Amino acid sequence: LITRMREFGTTVFAEMTALAVRTGSINLGQGFPDTDGPPAMLEAAVEAVRSGANQYPPGHGVPELRQAVAEHREKHYGLAYDPDHEIYVTVGATEAIAASVLALTEPGDEIVLFEPYYDSYAAVVTLAQAVRRTVPLRLTEGRFTFDPDELRAAVGPRTRAIVVNSPHNPTGTVFTRDELALIAELCAEHDLIAITDEVYEHLTFDGVEHIPLATLPGMRERTVMISSAGKTFSVTGWKTGWICAPAPLIAAVRTVKQFLTFTAGAPWQLAVAYGLRHELPWVTDLRDSLAAKRDRLATGLTQAGFDVIRPSGTYFVQTDIRPLGFRDGLDLTRALPTLAGVVAIPTQVFYDNPDHGRHFVRFAFCKRDDVIDEAAARLARLG
Ligand code: PMP
Ligand code: GLN
Repeated sequence: LITRMREFGTTVFAEMTALAVRTGSINLGQGFPDTDGPPAMLEAAVEAVRSGANQYPPGHGVPELRQAVAEHREKHYGLAYDPDHEIYVTVGATEAIAASVLALTEPGDEIVLFEPYYDSYAAVVTLAQAVRRTVPLRLTEGRFTFDPDELRAAVGPRTRAIVVNSPHNPTGTVFTRDELALIAELCAEHDLIAITDEVYEHLTFDGVEHIPLATLPGMRERTVMISSAGKTFSVTGWKTGWICAPAPLIAAVRTVKQFLTFTAGAPWQLAVAYGLRHELPWVTDLRDSLAAKRDRLATGLTQAGFDVIRPSGTYFVQTDIRPLGFRDGLDLTRALPTLAGVVAIPTQVFYDNPDHGRHFVRFAFCKRDDVIDEAAARLARLG
């Protein structure tokens, strides 16, 4: 292992999913649904294979998908992107984030991350030999948010970019227009690039709407907007993502991405193009069903004795484990298969300083109702 990657080891998702498989536990750890995406979209993938879409597609993605992404951005957000020069297809959002960070930062540049952060961010910042500056999201009146002064203090002369993930994994926060406006103001003031991770763009609840940072005044020209099909269409295994950004930023990202993977799987791209065009009503149903699942799991966790923080988006719920007499989420999640036959994610692994997240544990609710009920019944034995 090269020195700079030593702190990363194995991802928590691999560790916890292996633990669930080994112990036969219910896996509320890694976020993936246990039901399939829209049947006609699955059929479109099969059809794509049958009709011969089995060789390298163009590096920047099949035209059908780039066109469908452009139409989707226009229709939902009023953002116009040229499908030939401003949209790039990637191997999931993960590759999009990695390629963007590698392409847009020099060694020693600083990148601002909100913490807790999705684990790949810190690793790619380190791969790029850049330096991460973290701004904590603190639990304030029932939701995780940042202190404007702490955000301002994190931006300095070496800051090159800020990564903004909303709806936010793992806290479930959806940034408000005011919060985004402050981020936009700092980007303009310090000439920063915003790399936005919007993979949960359609998964928001209670009438809360996702606002892309690129829709704020002056932001489209400096935002690298990233999303993917995995969460929107319940196909996390398809690993199909995309970047929308001004042509010069896309050109920079392409230079890196073409040597990481050159291109992304062809059949999935055609099927996702179909999904973006025809299956958005299915996604609305998914969102309603997820809101009900959130409530179902939240009720179960509350009855089991956890303090539950209700998320406005994503498919994760945060819990405070202290009311049950536990102190350390990593210890608890490692013991949970034995104690209750359930696997969850210790939130502390998403922090530079684990102390800040030590007493939080994340549970995924993108599961069948009977699975949620069984997990809740098992967890009720903890108290
Ligand atoms: N960003 C966030 C915030 C995520 O939760 C995930 C996991 N789906 C990803 C990126 C990775 O997305 P993909 O599977 O499309 O690479
Ligand atoms: N995004 C999912 C999660 O946060 C899974 C990520 C992964 O497996 N790398 O649980």
